[in-house]
Amino acid sequence: MKLCSCLTLTLALACVVGCDEPLDESLLNEPPAVAEAAPVDEAAVEGAAVENASESRPVVTIDDTQSEAQSENTDEPTQKTVRGSYNALSPNAAFVLLRKGTEPPGDGGYTLTKDPGTYICRQCNAMLYRADQKFESHCGWPSFDDEIKGAVRRLRDQDGRRVEIVCANCGGHLGHVFQGERLTKKNVRHCVNSISMKFVSKGKPLPAKIVAKPTSAPEMPEEKVTDKAAARPQE
Ligand SMILES: [Zn+2]
Repeated sequence: MKLCSCLTLTLALACVVGCDEPLDESLLNEPPAVAEAAPVDEAAVEGAAVENASESRPVVTIDDTQSEAQSENTDEPTQKTVRGSYNALSPNAAFVLLRKGTEPPGDGGYTLTKDPGTYICRQCNAMLYRADQKFESHCGWPSFDDEIKGAVRRLRDQDGRRVEIVCANCGGHLGHVFQGERLTKKNVRHCVNSISMKFVSKGKPLPAKIVAKPTSAPEMPEEKVTDKAAARPQE
């Protein structure tokens, strides 16, 4: 009976979303918001799971000062990590990175950039994409068919259809990822706002990746809350 209800749920879900650009669960690396309502296709998720095996939480294995982020790809430059405050953002950059806005399409920014180098997060400097992962999609935004390993997290977009991509280190909004368009062999398009990134030409030093300092008010001071609650007269 359990199988039956599960199947029914699956069919119902497929029917609901099937008519309107169904969300490709294989692109997600976050569990569905309602796990029971969205059975996971193990086969579809396997690739993403492997790809992001170490990434359900951003990889921030650093000491308190700095460390070298060694990459498996020898073409990727190394990058130091520091604790500190994120880069200040212009109002337009904050609109995109922090409030999940979208910059207008066009040839501005990095849409047509083909120089060798590395694209880093504008807010925290984390390496996101290599120039050799970029391709011309003619969609009006910079497009990449892969990311630097562990650099990008995939989330279910609030619209329920698309897959949002954010910087794995700082959570800044980058854009969306699409699969199945057959634009490149990898068949994936990261559609990224130029303003979410900064480009560092090959050979130039990368700024250190910034890991946010713990906030001055860590966790909820449970005892104090309890004390307050206790001190406050009930009702
Ligand atoms: Zn970032």
